[in-house]
Amino acid sequence: MRSGPMKVIIAGAGIGGLAAALSLHKQGIACEIYEKVPELLQLGVGLTLLPHAMTELDALGLVPALDRVAVRTEHLYYRTRHGQNVWDEPRGLKAGYKVPQFSIHRADLQQVLLNAIRERLPAGALTLDAAFEDVTEHQDGIVARFRKADGSSLEVDGDILIGADGIHSAVRSKFVQDEGKPRWSGLMLWRGSVDWPRFMDGRSIIISGGTDCKFILYPIGPGKTPATQLMNWAAVIRQAAPGGLPPAREEWNREARHEDLRALLSRFTVPEADIAAMVAATPMFWEFPMCDRDPLPRWSFGRVSLLGDAAHAMYPFGANGAAQAILDGRALADVLGAGATGAEAMQLYQAERLPKANDVVARNRNGGPERVIDEVEARAPDPFADIDAVLPRADRETIVRGYSRLAGFAAEQLERT
Ligand SMILES: Cc1cc2nc3c(=O)[nH]c(=O)nc-3n(C[C@H](O)[C@H](O)[C@H](O)COP(=O)(O)OP(=O)(O)OC[C@H]3O[C@@H](n4cnc5c(N)ncnc54)[C@H](O)[C@@H]3O)c2cc1C
Repeated sequence: MRSGPMKVIIAGAGIGGLAAALSLHKQGIACEIYEKVPELLQLGVGLTLLPHAMTELDALGLVPALDRVAVRTEHLYYRTRHGQNVWDEPRGLKAGYKVPQFSIHRADLQQVLLNAIRERLPAGALTLDAAFEDVTEHQDGIVARFRKADGSSLEVDGDILIGADGIHSAVRSKFVQDEGKPRWSGLMLWRGSVDWPRFMDGRSIIISGGTDCKFILYPIGPGKTPATQLMNWAAVIRQAAPGGLPPAREEWNREARHEDLRALLSRFTVPEADIAAMVAATPMFWEFPMCDRDPLPRWSFGRVSLLGDAAHAMYPFGANGAAQAILDGRALADVLGAGATGAEAMQLYQAERLPKANDVVARNRNGGPERVIDEVEARAPDPFADIDAVLPRADRETIVRGYSRLAGFAAEQLERT
């Protein structure tokens, strides 16, 4: 029988688990985080923090810390793979939002969240080298079991358990049996970052090409010299039809080989950068068979629920993976902060977040906002003279703005200056 104040156990110290812990702490709710890896290494590459996620990170007082390591994004360009503009718009403060939009290295974002955890939560709130294995529920709470690399195990009790343990969630697989592997889109995503000369205003994102053949370029941090920035690049190229087996396990941190990508880069024109030279200068980069999971009809199972990729792994189109995880944490904290407890709280959290996040998963299978590029390239595969003759502005706007509303960051959904 549990006694004392409410305590939330979180499995996973990725972006979602750490942000949730900070949101819970802000509501005065105790939590402990248990993370599988023995050391949090500098993994991943660039992420975009859109206005809905930034509204939450601002509420957590993290904008100054983000400013020290990230880039304030001010403009977004959607282009064909030949380099022609399909859509462009200001972003963040330049678009009238109250919060900046940031482009950031995933490891820097994780570090900003970790620093805040260490400053704000009691010592011992985060335990590394603790892989979730099992949970049992009793009348007043849960007991979760974690395993250390040396084979020993650790049992902890709490009121509820949140599985924030990513796309291969062990918490999810305990409750959703026989689900199998994540679903492969048939697309391979290569990503890396390198110190490289800044382009344009040093605050822009360029996305060139539709779903099957796409190159993404944007700065995510200061460079080694005043003329350079830490440049994030990503190439997405179709290798197979959706739904098949990926060529290798969908690990985020599998190292890629230059010879697999080199020839494919000639498909893209990015006038502002010599992308072949930039990729060649990237000492180490990674490949990820782009996977998601079929949306679930429920995430909450008694006193256990899921959060972030564990609940709704999605393709990274539309830059929403980290953002939706951050929104989950805020919703969870609001439900518990309002006084709900146990299984009832898990149902309320699910009711608030599941329909919205599942919609984003579905929309991302269709290219997200970047579908506007697919529409243009389908009508005009070769360079064109007039974009409005290919696809009128109103139609392009419907696609792009429709996604912002669905994902929850349309200007009218957030407080503006
Ligand atoms: C190494 C890595 C690199 C990534 N790189 C990129 C990138 O470059 N671009 C991009 O868009 N997205 C990337 N992602 C995914 C991105 O972080 C997520 O889509 C998004 O931020 C949602 O976060 P999340 O916390 O739900 O999941 P994640 O950020 O994946 O975090 C899940 C955490 O759970 C831990 N974990 C796993 N199993 C267990 C277990 N059994 N018990 C306890 N803990 C466990 C993991 O080690 C990880 O720390 C990466 C994820 C990882 C893990």
